[in-house]
Amino acid sequence: MPTTKVNLETTDLNNYRYDMSRCIKCKGCYWVEHTYMPGVKFSVRCPSNYWNDFDSYGAFGKMRIGTGLVEGKLNWTPTLLEVVYADPLCGACDVGCKRNLDLEIELSLEAMRVKAVQDGAGPMPAHKRIAENIAATHNLFGAPHADRRKWVTSDIRIAEKADVLYFAGCTASYTNHEIAQATGKILNAVKTPFMLMPDEWCCGNTLQSVGMLEEARELAKRNIEAVKSTGARRVLLSCAEGYRMWKVEYPKLLNIATSDLPFEVIHLVEFADEALKRGDLKLTRPVNTRLTYHDSCSISRLADPWTPWSGERGWMGTVSPPLKRRRGTQGLYAQPRNVIGAIPGVEFIEMIRTRENAFCCGAGRGTKEAFPTLASSSAKHRLEEVKEIGAEVLVSACPWCKNNFAQAVKEDGNGVKVMDFSELILASLDA
Ligand code: SF4
Ligand code: SF4
Repeated sequence: MPTTKVNLETTDLNNYRYDMSRCIKCKGCYWVEHTYMPGVKFSVRCPSNYWNDFDSYGAFGKMRIGTGLVEGKLNWTPTLLEVVYADPLCGACDVGCKRNLDLEIELSLEAMRVKAVQDGAGPMPAHKRIAENIAATHNLFGAPHADRRKWVTSDIRIAEKADVLYFAGCTASYTNHEIAQATGKILNAVKTPFMLMPDEWCCGNTLQSVGMLEEARELAKRNIEAVKSTGARRVLLSCAEGYRMWKVEYPKLLNIATSDLPFEVIHLVEFADEALKRGDLKLTRPVNTRLTYHDSCSISRLADPWTPWSGERGWMGTVSPPLKRRRGTQGLYAQPRNVIGAIPGVEFIEMIRTRENAFCCGAGRGTKEAFPTLASSSAKHRLEEVKEIGAEVLVSACPWCKNNFAQAVKEDGNGVKVMDFSELILASLDA
């Protein structure tokens, strides 16, 4: 029986020819499983296809487009670029598809963007501007590099040397000081010394997400070496996208496993859960509200660790050696819920679509910058769900989610209060 050599490199769309061509158009990537679905109102999982009903925008359409691209039957056009990039790469289709079929949908979508860049068609103009900003100022916004640590106030103690290194990331460093400050204060409160990178640069999330892998790889190498030189054992993030970048994409870009990184990558939700279990995190101040939690894609279904794989595909698509699929089952689902459940006064209520079925806020991975109406449509749809369950506060653990939801609340005036996980914890700390 003839076999084909194959690996998981997204630099060659041919690696996903089989996956893309075997889509059966069952739309398991679009509908939330009926067993979780109380009705039709919140039954979809794809922000891209929710924004534009045309089939091309669903994963089932994109798999056919990817097949056309790899077979040389399609040329890049402005519409084709929109279909490929108007998509937060949220991974909901991937976990939905893998309930029935072992097809690598998320990686196929990423490889299509890499091909767009290789062919000189992508990314979108907004992404090119971000890439220029990062090259010039080491941050997404093109803000002065010298301002990166402006979030550090005199009441936050930062160590010269510590086991934990807090990587604030571009958003918390420039546009969301409140998240970096709350994170610093939580670390201080539980008496965990932490340091910062001597010279923090962007993590490269947007570059990786839009297919600019060469540029993202350079940042991965630089940032890993910079952390290594500090001797840190743990890199802590308060940004979900940054967490995914360090934990999953850096190893993917460097063809190593997450376990090969010379340090552990953790998110604040994990750290807080550990500190709570040790008895160091004392959540004593009541937060009297009815509250729900939004699973940010990059710390949930996109957070399974990375392991390189190469092998052969043979009869009926079987692969050898066996491939341990990433199914979104190793995300940080329990940790934030444990911590929130320990806050006195909180009445916690789940949304209809939770954990790996959560509906993405629509902002991440270059989407809000290039397709703000998509980001807005996703956030508003998610906020309808928040209203439906009667929650007053929406908590997420990513500045991208917070900002996108906050803008949607402002536009719709629906009265929901949007908070980051770090702010919620800070509000319940002992005075
Ligand atoms: S769930 Fe998978 S096989 Fe089914 S339509 Fe979506 S991508 Fe295709
Ligand atoms: S990654 Fe998310 S937005 Fe993109 S096709 Fe899949 S479900 Fe839709």
